[in-house]
This record gives sequence, C-alpha cells and structure tokens, in this order.
Amino acid sequence: MKIHEYQAKEILKKYGVPVQDGVAITNMSEFDNAIYTLQARGAHQYVVKSQIHAGGRGKGKVYSKDNRDELVQEGGVKFSPTVEKAREYAQKILGNLLITHQTGPEGKLVQTLFITEGLDYVKELYLGILLDRTIGKNVIMASTEGGVEIEKVAAETPEKIIKEWIDPAIGFQTFQARRLAFALGLEGEVFKSFIYFINQLYKAYEDTDASLVEINPMVITNDNRVVALDAKITLDDNSMFRHKDYAQLRDINEEDPLEVQASTYDLNYIKLDGNVGCMVNGAGLAMATMDIIKLAGGEPANFLDVGGGASKDTVEKGFQIILSDKNVKAILVNIFGGIVRCDRVAGGIIEAAKNINIDIPVVVRLEGTNAIEAQKMLDESGLNLISAKGFKEAAEKITAALKSS
Ligand code: GDP
Ligand code: MG
Repeated sequence: MKIHEYQAKEILKKYGVPVQDGVAITNMSEFDNAIYTLQARGAHQYVVKSQIHAGGRGKGKVYSKDNRDELVQEGGVKFSPTVEKAREYAQKILGNLLITHQTGPEGKLVQTLFITEGLDYVKELYLGILLDRTIGKNVIMASTEGGVEIEKVAAETPEKIIKEWIDPAIGFQTFQARRLAFALGLEGEVFKSFIYFINQLYKAYEDTDASLVEINPMVITNDNRVVALDAKITLDDNSMFRHKDYAQLRDINEEDPLEVQASTYDLNYIKLDGNVGCMVNGAGLAMATMDIIKLAGGEPANFLDVGGGASKDTVEKGFQIILSDKNVKAILVNIFGGIVRCDRVAGGIIEAAKNINIDIPVVVRLEGTNAIEAQKMLDESGLNLISAKGFKEAAEKITAALKSS
C-alpha cells in the first residue's frame, strides 16, 4: 500500500527521524492555520507540496481540472519565501490535476497539500531501503546524487550508488552505518547525525513492515542538520493484519475505482489498458490466459482472479466490473473446475446475463468438474455465448469475436 508523503513523515517522526516539518490541508480555509502552526515552530519560508501517490512532483505540471489543456503552473512542489506567494501556489494546485512522469498522461487530482517549512540546504543525498529479492536480504542504497531520479543514476552512473546488505540474523550494524557515511563523504557533526538518522530510518523500515522507504532527497542543511526533505513509504499489504491502524492511511481517491469495488467483493482485479476482459479462476491460469490472448493478437483489459470458490454472486460482480471498463470489447471466461464446479459457474454466468445487459461477445471455456453439465446449461440458456473447447480455441474465438464486433 502506498501512502502520502505527509503520512510517511508522520511515521518517521515517531522514530525520531528528522523530517521537514509540515501541516496537511485539504481545503484553502485551513491554509492560514497551517502557516500559523509552522510559524510557531519557527518557519519563516514555506514549501507547498502536492500530495499524490506518484513521484516527480517537483518537475510535474499542474493543469486545470476543468480544462485539461490549460497549464496552470509548472511544478507541483513550490518553494516560497513569503506567505502570500505560498497561498497563491496552494490556490493554483489544490483541486487541479498534476501530471508527472509517474502519473501517466491523465494525471492525478490533488486533493491534499502538505504545507511545510522551507529549508536552506547545501547538499541533496539519496537514501533508499528495500528488499533485494535476488539475494533475500534488505538493502540500503545511498548516493551523493540526491534529488534526481535514482533510476537515471542507476542507468548512467551506477558506481554512484552505494549498497549495504543487511544480514537478517544479526541486523543492521553500526559499522555498516559508518561505511555508508564515509561513502557519502560526510564529516564531523553531520557524520554523527547521519549515523543516528540511518539507524532510526532502518528501525522504522523494519517495524512498519515497509517494502520500501525512500528519502529523496535527504539534505544537509546550512546549519549542518540531516533532514528528510521528501519521504516515500510503501507498506506491505500482507502485514496489515498486525497493523490495524494502517487502514486509516489508505487513500481511496488514489486508487482505481474499479479495483476498490473489486476488493470489496474479494475479487483480485487489476485494470489494464487492453480490450479483452478476462474472468478466470486462479492467478496462474489468469496469467496464462492473458498470455494466450496476447499471442492470439488481442490485449487483455484486466487481470481478474475470481478465486477458487467462485459463486454465482462473485461471477456476477466480476461481469459488472469488467463491463464498467469502457475499453472492453469482448470477454473471455476461462474457468477450470477444480474446487469450484463448472455447473455452478455456468449458473453464475446465466444469472449475470439475466441481470445485466451484456452487449458484447462472450467466449466461455469451462473445463473440469461437471464441465459437460455446464456446457449443456449454457447451450440451453438461449444466451448468445460462444463456447470454446480448450485454451487455444478460446483465444482464437475471442480474437475473431473482436474483429467482428
Ligand atoms: P518530488 O519531486 O515528488 O520528489 O518532491 P520533493 O519533495 O523531493 O521536492 C522536489 C524538490 O523541491 C526538491 O528536490 C527540492 O529541490 C525542492 N524543495 C522541496 N522542499 C524544499 C525546501 O524546503 N527548500 C528548498 N530550497 N527546496 C525544496
Ligand atoms: Mg523527491
């Protein structure tokens, strides 16, 4: 699960990691209070930061929500020496669309702003902690090239990325923190502050069951403090059961509405850009189905695993969700009756077809337990379904259906 910068900083603060201080607002009526709060804490210059689940905000562009062609402002993160200017920036960003290299061309609606203190700094560094899956260990990555895209550094100057792998049996060691500090060229007070910073950051990464903690940039301020200017944390969904409080960090506005709907019915649905809707049981079969659609010349519109125990209801909900995607021009149902019986799935399809208007071709391939009974039910239903035997035939029929529709 992705969370916003302001939420990530809230977590880091609890671990004592020094962060650029700020107040989140969702409405301009809260702006003055945010400024007073920051002033009371000593701020005299400000930064207005768009809160969306995508990076590259600083270099992004703000477009009008009502007219996507109207450029309102360059930059979704704006430094401002005065309150007046900060207010102007905030007004321009809040409620408009921010497009960055990570949002895709449709951009994201900015519904929250993080109004922060503005810091003066001499250096921008990069710090990231994540699981290195090839080695099976957590890795801390650091670089003197902070503030720029780390993918770019990795591609062009990989020698500028320093890595420190953590042995899970003994944990993060102080000598490793020192090694990172030396490699980043830190000295004196800054060296010491960094050791504390990275120790606390690693603790936060482990305790929160994060799959990624990225500080880009971590800055060295004019008064020699080490501060997280930006913070990105991705939490591991599989750990939610032991962090009940994480549920409140979820921002549904940032998620695809169809995926949100699917998750409420326990359907594993991921929206894609193609035109063939897929209804499959089991993740492996779902992946294979997407492959075969592509091989036959189509493009999958989604990944959908209705689960091993697909019922009439889940099949119907699955159809509804697939059909809400306007790009879908044909549907392929590919179910293997192992735990779930094919006749039950067929019943679900017939029921769904009665309740919702399916006006695009549907190819159905059912195999396994009670497949013959299922076939008979579909044939006798009077519905306009195209039945297919086997994988290959299903894929061929779906591409043929696409061409004719
Ligand atoms: P990102 O573009 O989404 O990664 O957002 P960041 O939080 O990293 O901010 C983008 C850029 O804004 C930073 O790399 C800095 O150049 C600038 N910036 C953000 N906060 C401050 C600040 O307090 N002082 C100064 N001088 N620049 C800042
Ligand atoms: Mg950043």
